[in-house]
Amino acid sequence: MLFKMCPKCGSNNVKWIIPQNWSTWKCYRCGYIGPIIEGNKEMSEEIEENYIEELKKEKKEEKD
Ligand SMILES: [Zn+2]
Repeated sequence: MLFKMCPKCGSNNVKWIIPQNWSTWKCYRCGYIGPIIEGNKEMSEEIEENYIEELKKEKKEEKD
């Protein structure tokens, strides 16, 4: 089964915010705004893993 998800963090907590612009969505998890993608659970989990890795990297860079 496919569902809509954020291409940045894989969350399905996305909402269509501009009625005149069907391609603009907002992710309420990471704050991403833009076109979203459709995919299955595996895809969502993969994106989420990458997103978490990116967050870890960012935190490390702040410490250095
Ligand atoms: Zn997101």
